[in-house]
Amino acid sequence: MPQDSPQLPIETPPTSDGAVVNALSFDIEDWFHLVEIEAVADTNRWSSFPSIVEHRTEEILEICAEHNATATFYFLGWIADRYPELVRRVVEAGHEIGTHSYWHRKVCDLDEATFREDLSRSIKTIQDAAGADVTSFRAPSFSITPGTEWAFDALMDAGLRYDASLFPVARENGGYPCPEVPHLFSSTPSGRAMPELPMSLMRLGPKRVGFSGGGYLRLFPTWLIHRGFDALNRRGIPGVVYLHPRDFAPDSPVVEMSRSRRFKCYVGLSSTAAKLHSLLSKYRFASCGTVMARRFPDLEIA
Ligand SMILES: [Zn+2]
Repeated sequence: MPQDSPQLPIETPPTSDGAVVNALSFDIEDWFHLVEIEAVADTNRWSSFPSIVEHRTEEILEICAEHNATATFYFLGWIADRYPELVRRVVEAGHEIGTHSYWHRKVCDLDEATFREDLSRSIKTIQDAAGADVTSFRAPSFSITPGTEWAFDALMDAGLRYDASLFPVARENGGYPCPEVPHLFSSTPSGRAMPELPMSLMRLGPKRVGFSGGGYLRLFPTWLIHRGFDALNRRGIPGVVYLHPRDFAPDSPVVEMSRSRRFKCYVGLSSTAAKLHSLLSKYRFASCGTVMARRFPDLEIA
């Protein structure tokens, strides 16, 4: 794979009308796929829980269709095993398919062999359901952290074309210090480089914080989220939206957890759909693969 200058924020070419194309992505898992929450940790119980994943993913598909936007859907292998027709519907709607692992375990909690095993099981399950290639990976809870760079070698060996797992500042369950723009990640044990689409940050007072997905998007008001996209797009940098079916589900069962974690998990659930509509109305979006192919036209990505 050709080397690049991974530390330099290089602009992605704008569209003919000058707009930056931002990345739209969804991690397709259920309300009980929460890392480090004791009440839902027993995988044997997952099948007995009521599910929100199908109807909330359908809602996401409808919103995308309304705005004529394509996205990347990072399926959990466990979900693809149970709802193969859901994977198929996403592919038929023209979206890109990625893997979010099979069991939703943090990468930094696994050894390399276990990670490779989980990854290949997820890719096979999702591809069998999709009838289409899995192109990329998103780690549960952005859990590729310093010390787990071997994960990139595993992703490349599995044939994936890029990664979208890094969160450029430390957070509760992950984080990896890296450029805040699409770049080539080359700190791998093998020395090979992989295209990386990191999550977006904005400046808030003295801090750099997420704003474009999950709890950040649910918590922040729409005008502040727009400000974050404006700041990135002005510099030619694509922003990355990442959401889950449960982000759209005010009816999601509430799991027992610490008060601070409960706030992050359940704040603003009824605001997500309107915020996504506003983003898709104001900014240009496409799948992560489309954004990465525009940034790295010489690499085989899309
Ligand atoms: Zn997840």
